[in-house]
Amino acid sequence: MNIDIKLHKNDLPEDLDLGNICSFDGEFLGLNVRRDPLCLIQVSSGNNDAHIVQLNRETYDAPVLKKLLNDKNVKKIFHYARADMAHIKHYLKIDIENVLDTKIASKLARSYSENHSLKTLIKEFINIDISKQSQSSDFGGELTPAQLKYCANDVIFLHKIHDELNKILIRENRINLYNDCLKFLKTRVDLDLALFRDDIWSH
Ligand code: MN
Repeated sequence: MNIDIKLHKNDLPEDLDLGNICSFDGEFLGLNVRRDPLCLIQVSSGNNDAHIVQLNRETYDAPVLKKLLNDKNVKKIFHYARADMAHIKHYLKIDIENVLDTKIASKLARSYSENHSLKTLIKEFINIDISKQSQSSDFGGELTPAQLKYCANDVIFLHKIHDELNKILIRENRINLYNDCLKFLKTRVDLDLALFRDDIWSH
C-alpha cells in the first residue's frame, strides 16, 4: 500500500482540505502529561495520507491545527483519545470537539475479545500485521523513516476500523452506550488532569 506521508514543521499548512472526518493521533515523550511533552500530532483524511506535525515545543504555536481540532463540524477519530486529549489540552490549551474513539468502540462492540490494541484492530479489520517496534522510541528529535511510517500507521486505518466497529455497535444495540461514553470523554480527561486517575464510580 502506498502511503503519502508529509512532515510539517510547527503547524499544518493553511490550504489543506482534509474533509469532515479526520483521524488523529499524538506522540508524547511518555505517558505522564506534566512531565512528558507532546511532540507530534498526526492527522489523516482517510485516503492513505498522513500529515505529521512536528510541534514547536517552546511555543506550541499551531493556529491551523488548533482550529481544526476545535472545529465542531469536523469529526475526529482517535484510538484511546483519553491520552491524546489530556496532552493536547495541557500543551495546546484547547478542548477537542466532536471526538470518536476506536478503543471505546472496540471495548463495547468486541466483547468477544480482551485485546483492544490498535495493532489487533488493524489485523482484524484490515488484515495487515503492522510493526509496533517504534512505539517506545524517541519522538523528541529528528524522525527516522521507520518512525514516520509508524506514525502514519497510527492514523491511516482508523476511518475503516471505526466504520466496521460502528456496524457491530448498531447491530448489537450498543450504539447509544457508545455515544454516551463519548459525551463523558471530556470529563474523564478533566478528571485525569485534576489527578483523579482512578475509576470514580468504584466503591
Ligand atoms: Mn501513536
